[in-house]
Amino acid sequence: MLKYSNRIDLYFKIVYNKANMESGCKRSMSDKKYISTRGQQKPLDFYDAILQGIGSDGGLLVPDFELEQKDLKSLQNLSYVDMATEIISSFVDENAKEEIRELCQKAYGNGLFPQEVVPVKKAGDVYIAELFQGPTAAFKDMALSLLPHFMTYSLKKKGEERKVMILAATSGDTGKAALEGFKDVEGTYIQVFYPVDGVSPIQKQQMITQTGSNVDVVGIQGNFDDAQTAVKKAFQSPDLKDLCDEHHVFLSSANSINIGRLIPQVVYYFYSYMTLVHDQEIKLGEPVNFTIPSGNFGNCLAGVIARKMGLPITKFIVASNKNNILTDFFRTGKYDARRDFYKTNAPAMDILVSSNLERLVYMVSQDSQKVQTYMDNLNKQGVYEISDDLLEKLQTLFKAGWLDEDEVLSVIHTCFEETGYLLDTHTAIGYGVYKEYQKAFRDETKTIILATASPYKFADSVYEALENQKLPEYEAIEAVHQKTGVPIPTPLVHLDQKEVKHHKVIHKDDIIQEISQKIKELSL
Ligand SMILES: *Cc1c(COP(=O)(O)O)cnc(C)c1O
Repeated sequence: MLKYSNRIDLYFKIVYNKANMESGCKRSMSDKKYISTRGQQKPLDFYDAILQGIGSDGGLLVPDFELEQKDLKSLQNLSYVDMATEIISSFVDENAKEEIRELCQKAYGNGLFPQEVVPVKKAGDVYIAELFQGPTAAFKDMALSLLPHFMTYSLKKKGEERKVMILAATSGDTGKAALEGFKDVEGTYIQVFYPVDGVSPIQKQQMITQTGSNVDVVGIQGNFDDAQTAVKKAFQSPDLKDLCDEHHVFLSSANSINIGRLIPQVVYYFYSYMTLVHDQEIKLGEPVNFTIPSGNFGNCLAGVIARKMGLPITKFIVASNKNNILTDFFRTGKYDARRDFYKTNAPAMDILVSSNLERLVYMVSQDSQKVQTYMDNLNKQGVYEISDDLLEKLQTLFKAGWLDEDEVLSVIHTCFEETGYLLDTHTAIGYGVYKEYQKAFRDETKTIILATASPYKFADSVYEALENQKLPEYEAIEAVHQKTGVPIPTPLVHLDQKEVKHHKVIHKDDIIQEISQKIKELSL
């Protein structure tokens, strides 16, 4: 079987697949397999890929089949649920469509999101796709509203009788969205690790007040990378594996290392594009750019997949905060994590080990040996450098830039003054970096900025940006509302009055110990 990119330039030649479809060539369901970026994982079907969460060799799972080329015309005017069904079923058995529709309905059509799941607004000359309308007011809801349904569906398909224990490391937003998604979901248990001083007070309050009988929230003294690294190690630990077997439990991941996080994110690229077509802002088939405030690079990678499925995207503009490792990478080809880690006013992007870059490097190189070498270098020396030919390929598609904290505040201020649109700190980075790109390259291509959080999740910074003075979090929420009239998302109303249920804080080296403890308790 040919791998999808062996015979094409990954980015530019997408015609082959159409020809394939026209010749009536149908792949059998068993062709839709997932393999690891590091090459040592036996191919898995969709369900096992979801349940396992990560390659047994420590790599990330990626499709090992030709991505289905979508006919744009047929996707016009679909509701979000219908669009999600069309896109997502391309990743599952061919006969699973109706079941996938049910899952999408549960995630996006049952009142967790408003009627308009992803509104696209205009701010000056850019379009802003609001990915934060879900139950926790952050873009993580787009995938984590669906992932638990993928899990239970996969458990059922596989006749799995063990319980699944979901592990999540969070830089603030994943944790809450995963907790909301998995709370009281049968057959699952979820444990979330967050850096105790590395998330905003509102993010923290959202997590430590979490209800549900199967949830556990643990603060760690360390940063997000420490948490994510420990969680990745947990999957590799033979001791934990034995313990899991003994207690009829297996581990899976709710981080964007799980392919089940990426697949739902492909949908909103198509959806926001089609909204612009519907609103007659662009013509069907007209190329656009996307700007993505990035951390773990999962959001952007979903766009790369959308592009491979035929969405006409010219450029991805990758925006970072002061932890600008991605900016350096796209400019130089060198991924150098030997640098200071900064806590910034856009904490969900405070990341130095951007997991999904591994998938990108694999997709472009199609060389698991190379990926393994790069990742070994990263683990041992804290740095790797891709070859020139790979860098050249990446640079035709990606532009990257970053803003410091003061620039973030000034962008929020200016954008609100000039356009009336209120940005959160993360989206402001996207907006600011895009404006710089536009000036530097004079690119007139219509551009969609992905808005990743409600401004109220980072209300103290937003208030500071607007008024040039500080207020405590909860007062800032009220004051921002008074000033701008932008509605406060329901999940954030009276958040300060909720009961704190999770007090635990541990050292970063004790994460695996903590997981073991929980597994033992679980089967009592
Ligand atoms: C998670 C997150 C990001 C970064 O997304 P990645 O997929 O990790 O690149 C950006 N902004 C906000 C608000 C987030 O929660």
